[in-house]
Amino acid sequence: MRALIIEDEKKTAQYLKKGLTENGFVADVAENGEDGLHLATTAEYAFVILDVMLPDRDGWSIITELRRTGKQTPVIFLTARDAVEDRVKGLELGADDYLVKPFAFSELLARIKTILRRGPTRYPEVLQVTDLEIDFLKRKAKRGAKRLDLSPKEFLLLWLLASHAGEILTRTYISEQVWDMNFDCDTNVVDVAILRLRKKLDEPFPVKLLHSVRGVGYVLEDRSEEDIP
Ligand code: CA
Repeated sequence: MRALIIEDEKKTAQYLKKGLTENGFVADVAENGEDGLHLATTAEYAFVILDVMLPDRDGWSIITELRRTGKQTPVIFLTARDAVEDRVKGLELGADDYLVKPFAFSELLARIKTILRRGPTRYPEVLQVTDLEIDFLKRKAKRGAKRLDLSPKEFLLLWLLASHAGEILTRTYISEQVWDMNFDCDTNVVDVAILRLRKKLDEPFPVKLLHSVRGVGYVLEDRSEEDIP
């Protein structure tokens, strides 16, 4: 799941990005309002964290423009000012929630989870492919009763593949979805990550779920039925 952070304070932006990445999200950062609006309108994000006070274009005008273009991406406002009218204004303009700085990351995470549960694109919380079960919000994956011990990137990779079960995903698509836009992703990185994931996901189990499609990419599906002659 991809998130956009629009925040000009570098420290806050990096704090947010680090926290989101540790929690299994891919986070892009825009350091000014124009770039932020451009990304928010042209790319698909699960949610946007939007600072109100930005040097060029403020958060109010960004959300107004975003909603005008018909984008319903959930937006959480970050505001340094604890004025009631600011909160009301944000919500009136179409924000989904707001947080007053300084805030604890756990608080933000709780808000994000709530928003993803009720958001316009309803994210399934749990995905199931045969005996594989992945709970996105709890960050848990298991096959049958066995818990899979995955790194955040492996988890995200598995979630991506499972949410497109049966579809072949190209290395390029996978790298775009799992690594952030500033990461110059060699597709070898994808192959290495897949290899690691496969060790945990498939090696201990008789039914293999992760398959390579030569020259294209990868697909997650249960092919065990097809193997029966
Ligand atoms: Ca700011």
